[in-house]
Order: sequence, then C-alpha cells, then structure tokens
Amino acid sequence: MTFTQFNALKSPGAQPGAAGTTDPEISPAGPSSTTPLDPDVATRNAELVAEWADKLYDADAATILAWAAEHVPGKVAVTLSMENTVLAELAAAHLPQADFLFLDTGYHFAETLEVAQQVDKRYPQELVTALPILPRREQDSIYGLNLYRSNPTACCRMRKMEPLAVNLSPYAGWVTGLRRADGPTRAQAPALSLDATGRLKISPIITWSLAETEEYIEKEELIIHPLTKQGYPSIGCETCTLPVAEGEDPRAGRWAGSTKTECGLHS
Ligand code: SF4
Repeated sequence: MTFTQFNALKSPGAQPGAAGTTDPEISPAGPSSTTPLDPDVATRNAELVAEWADKLYDADAATILAWAAEHVPGKVAVTLSMENTVLAELAAAHLPQADFLFLDTGYHFAETLEVAQQVDKRYPQELVTALPILPRREQDSIYGLNLYRSNPTACCRMRKMEPLAVNLSPYAGWVTGLRRADGPTRAQAPALSLDATGRLKISPIITWSLAETEEYIEKEELIIHPLTKQGYPSIGCETCTLPVAEGEDPRAGRWAGSTKTECGLHS
C-alpha cells in the first residue's frame, strides 16, 4: 500500500494561529491540484470522448472497461469508496493494469477502513491511499472544531477534492462507481466524459440499479461493507452519513439536514 502525504511540505497557506481563526476558503499549505496533462494526451482524451461518449452511454461494465484497457493513453486509477467493492472486482477482471485509489478523509467509519484493508489483501492491484494535508486535530486547531459541520463544503474540498486532485496527477483517466440510480443529481451522468483537467472520467456501472449491484455482490461473493446491511445504502464519512429508511433516496443520509448533496468530486 502506498501512503501519500504532504504534511512536511511548507509553502504559503493556512498556518496554525488562534484556534479557528483561519478562513476555510484558504487551504493548508501544500499541493492541492492535479498537474497539467501532457498536451498530446489531453488532445487524445478529447478525441476519445467526442467519438465514444454516445456509444458507451448505455454500454455494460465489461465493454466500458475493455474499452478503457484498449484506448486510454496512459495509466488509469480506479477510485474506491469501499462502500462496495464492485469496481475492484470488475477492474481486476477487465482492467488489471489500473491502480486502485482510496480517499482516506480521516473521518471514515472503522468498517470502511477494514474493507480497504481487505481489498488490499484480496486484489493484486496497487492500492494508493490519498490523505488530506492536515490530520483532524490540526484541521480543528487551524479552522475550528468540526469544520464538517460549520462548513462541509470547505471540509470536503480539503479532505476529498484536493487530495483526489493531487493523487490523480499520474493518470490519464480514472474510473468511478457513479450510477444513474444513485439519485436525481446523477440521473443523466455519462459513462465517459472529461474532467476539468482533461482526464477521462469512466463510469462502468453507470446503468446499474441498486438491485443489480446487490446481485453482483452476492454472485461474486465480494467483500461486504457491514453498514450496507444496516440501513446505509450510501456511505461517506461517519460524521456526515446517516441511515435511510426503506424506499428513501439512497443518498438521503449524506449530509442529512443540510442542503449539501454532493462532495464535489462529481460536480
Ligand atoms: S463528508 Fe463530511 S467529514 Fe467527510 S470530508 Fe466532507 S464534510 Fe468533511
């Protein structure tokens, strides 16, 4: 397992002062964005999306991943939330040269971290763990206690979006577990698109329903996140995830009680 951490880097940015006095719009010192893509790769990626996005819109997972193995002009990262391990299993079968990438925000359920350990044991792929610049205690000291409550958008930016951005630098594309069935904000999501940096964003299970996902998990005897059996169909950070009632929007338990519905990774 590779741990990427940048605590030691010193450059202008938020510095510890009186507790909670720093503007949460100022990120801590250190890298926060993806390095620019090689221009030739960026051009090729744009051509691929123009040619293939419509053709892959409703394609099945094996087709999309086999397409990625053949066409992506560089390394691919498979992002894993550990809510389920469907993407890990599919990638092991159809895109074995890809790395796995897990965002450890520091606020995960213990069960999520256990699933990550099991994934690392079960699959031969490199599991890259992306960490925020600040451990929780330092974030509390600089930005005030419980930033996830006072400013969840800033918290997600520092603990998810920026670590993902930094850790996507070596890759020409990344695989996501987005499903249109996840809720109204994802109902029209494409199977293939470009992210803001020109990298390919590939979503092989985009057409899967929750029931199809469950069937696949059972059939392939995948690692089970125990909370998915306890009313948590969508699992993020422990501080920002509640169980939902039967039949409710699966993502209704994410940032429940606030207007926030997405962490920003897929906006
Ligand atoms: S989900 Fe909550 S705790 Fe996790 S990064 Fe976002 S605001 Fe912070």
